Amino acid sequence: MRVGIGHDTHRLAPGRPLILGGLHIEHPRGLVGHSDADVVLHALTDALLGAAGLGDIGDFYPDSDPVHKDRDSSFFVRETLERLNQKGFRPVNVDVIIFAQEPKLGPLKARMRDRLAGLLGLPADAVNVKAKTGEQVGAIGRSEAIACQVIALIENT
Ligand code: MG
Repeated sequence: MRVGIGHDTHRLAPGRPLILGGLHIEHPRGLVGHSDADVVLHALTDALLGAAGLGDIGDFYPDSDPVHKDRDSSFFVRETLERLNQKGFRPVNVDVIIFAQEPKLGPLKARMRDRLAGLLGLPADAVNVKAKTGEQVGAIGRSEAIACQVIALIENT
């Protein structure tokens, strides 16, 4: 078994859709990025790559590559799972912490867990989603950004 950690931050701004953990969330502001800026799926991708010793998301999906413009970030997770599979690894469980002052994520956590479990091919109880506010301090607390940390365990198939 091997473990990996991932972290990501994106800026919140008006005029962008908010996509978090593969869910399209009704909100007046969304995350800014080259792809769909889904911090959760980016941190998840990095955690999986890290566990397999495969580097990081920027090695495979540089934001200078026009092919990734506005890209659905579930693509990064799916392709990463294929890379793990080629090395003989599969995910065991993941634990996710989202840092967001807004929107309120409590009501969305169960849906996000199901979405992530589906993406990873894991049972729902092998995926955990936690949400923290920034206590109104710092960039997160002032709603300038949303961040995410993910830890992933993988095993040899
Ligand atoms: Mg990112």
